[in-house]
Amino acid sequence: MTAPRHDLPEADAFTRAYWEAAAGGRLLLRRCGACGRAHHYPREFCPHCWSEDVTWETASGLATLYTWSVVHRNDLPPFRDRTPYVAAVVDLAEGPRMMTELVGADRDRLRAGARLRVAFRDGVPVFRPGDG
Ligand SMILES: [Zn+2]
Repeated sequence: MTAPRHDLPEADAFTRAYWEAAAGGRLLLRRCGACGRAHHYPREFCPHCWSEDVTWETASGLATLYTWSVVHRNDLPPFRDRTPYVAAVVDLAEGPRMMTELVGADRDRLRAGARLRVAFRDGVPVFRPGDG
């Protein structure tokens, strides 16, 4: 029996587009046609103005590091095999703030505002240092 994974949500009809894009290496955002703002995680209405005139768009994948913390213990699979890891909040270039994981970074040299680029691990968006 395969152990349950706690890093992969069950996709419903609405979020399936997001996870299918992620599996193909694209990060999707939702953009509001009424106020023009983007948001993440995906919702069926705009969290800024409540409009339902919201559509998918592909994000640039560029972000800056807002804050982070090093997680030394997490008993939920698969996280327990990854500790210590860097849980991060990043500001996407399009504006939304996103909870994610930072990979491939020197944990002792992280700084707020560091440039990041999206990467995908098992179809889940994570971020790594770099803007190239
Ligand atoms: Zn809006």
